[in-house]
Amino acid sequence: MFALDVQHLTKIYRGGFHALKGIDLQVAEGDFFALLGPNGAGKSTFIGIISSLVNKTTGQVSVFGHDLDHDPEGVKSCIGLVPQEFNFNLFLPVIEVVLNQAGYYGLPRHEARIRAERYLRQLDLWDRRDTEMRRLSGGMKRRLMIARALVHEPRLLILDEPTAGVDIEIRRSMWSFLRELNQQGTTIILTTHYLEEAESLCRNIAIIDDGRIAERTSVAALLQRL
Ligand code: ADP
Ligand code: ADP
Repeated sequence: MFALDVQHLTKIYRGGFHALKGIDLQVAEGDFFALLGPNGAGKSTFIGIISSLVNKTTGQVSVFGHDLDHDPEGVKSCIGLVPQEFNFNLFLPVIEVVLNQAGYYGLPRHEARIRAERYLRQLDLWDRRDTEMRRLSGGMKRRLMIARALVHEPRLLILDEPTAGVDIEIRRSMWSFLRELNQQGTTIILTTHYLEEAESLCRNIAIIDDGRIAERTSVAALLQRL
């Protein structure tokens, strides 16, 4: 079974813009996968569709065997999304951001508290649990979004440009956190326009350009060519 199986996916935005022009892509369970491409290539549209934030125009999406059209709840339960922008909940304290997400997935309160503490500690935010989100640095906000995305223990974590604009030290610590999470079995897909990030973290890679997959290869094969 694939973690992600996408067939002939297209997206035409209202107004007629063709953002995805027929994407076929499979990602194996346990993979650490990068979707690389320039700005405007369609990366956010692609992960928006998989995460049920954007409606597709045509095509099939299946996540761990759950079909997006027939079992959207099954898809949602498998996916944790770390979005690129987070302009919501800015006045909420850190811990509430995570607890709210747990509530959204229907986790019992006691379990929600245990998990919120676990993930906030792992991401070095436990000391900040009562800080309002708007008072966090960019790197802290991103780490909070990772904790929030993990609270329902998804099998597939999707991150949209996880380290854009984050300083090098925080980037390194986020990388090592993600590596460990992947080693423990979580499939990870991230978008990036840093080749360095894809090289350092990922096993396999697809390059998306102008709404199409231009190339699908392993990072090892890509490095041999450079
Ligand atoms: P990327 O994440 O690779 O930068 P996006 O998926 O954000 O690319 O965007 C792909 C293309 O779709 C861009 O040209 C963008 O302007 C366009 N686009 C994105 N969102 C919308 C929208 N809501 N309506 C119309 N066009 C959009
Ligand atoms: P209280 O009993 O006064 O609400 P708690 O310490 O039990 O205090 O909870 C504090 C906050 O955490 C509350 O705002 C509550 O809504 C939130 N909370 C706790 N568990 C969950 C959960 N599973 N889902 C959503 N929100 C939760």
